[in-house]
Amino acid sequence: MRLIFLGAPGTGKGTQASVLAERYHIPQISTGDILRKAVAEGTELGQKAKAIMESGGLVSDDIIIALIEQRLTEDDCKNGYILDGFPRTIKQAEDLDRMLADKNGIDAVIYFDVSEDEIVKRLTSRRTCTQCGYNHNMIYDPPVDGDKCAKCGGTVIQRDDDKEETVRNRLLVYADKTAPLVDYYKNRNKLYVIDGAQDVQKVRQDIVDLYQKLSKV
Ligand code: AMP
Repeated sequence: MRLIFLGAPGTGKGTQASVLAERYHIPQISTGDILRKAVAEGTELGQKAKAIMESGGLVSDDIIIALIEQRLTEDDCKNGYILDGFPRTIKQAEDLDRMLADKNGIDAVIYFDVSEDEIVKRLTSRRTCTQCGYNHNMIYDPPVDGDKCAKCGGTVIQRDDDKEETVRNRLLVYADKTAPLVDYYKNRNKLYVIDGAQDVQKVRQDIVDLYQKLSKV
C-alpha cells in the first residue's frame, strides 16, 4: 500500500504514520525527518535546508524530489510506504505521479482535518526528543523530570520551527502551497478525510479501519 499522509503541520500525521508503519511493517518516509537529520549532521543538504526550515519556508522542489526519488528505490519500499510531509506542492505531487506512472500510482491520500486554532495550540506545546524524535505535548503528554523523554530518556527540546511566529508562517505557507493538494487528490478520487481533532486513539482507530478497508479493495 502506497499512502500519503496530508495535512497542515501539527495535525498528527507523523505520530499516526509511525504507529501505522510499525503495525504494517512499511516504512514511514518523512521528508522533515530526513532534512532534520541532514541539518544535525551538517551535510551539504543540511546546510542548504537549515535557514529555510528555521523560517518555516519550503525547501526547493528539486532538492526534495531528488531526495524522494532516491529513497523510493530502497529495498524497504517494495511493499509500500507512508509518505509523511511529502508532497507539499503541486509540482511535487506531479513529479510523484511521474515517478509512479508504471506502478499504478498512490493508493490513497489520508487528509488530517484540524482547525487552525487547534494546530497552533498543539504545535506551540509540542516538545521533541533530540534522540528518538518522539513528540511530547506539554499539556497532555509532558516529558519526565522537566526535559527527559518518556520513551528513551533523551533530552527533549522545542523545535525552533515550533515557536509561535514560525508556526504562523508555516501555516501561511501550508495554505498557499500545500492546501491545493486536497483538491488535486480529491479530483483523482484518492482523498480520504480523517477528523484529526479527535483524541489520538480514536484517530488511530479510524486510520486502521480505513487501511483495512483499502487493503481489501
Ligand atoms: P515537517 O517535519 O514535515 O513539518 O518539516 C519540517 C520542515 O522541513 C518544513 O517546514 C520545510 O521547511 C521542510 N520540508 C519538509 N518536507 C518538505 C517538502 N516536502 N517540501 C519542502 N520542504 C519540506
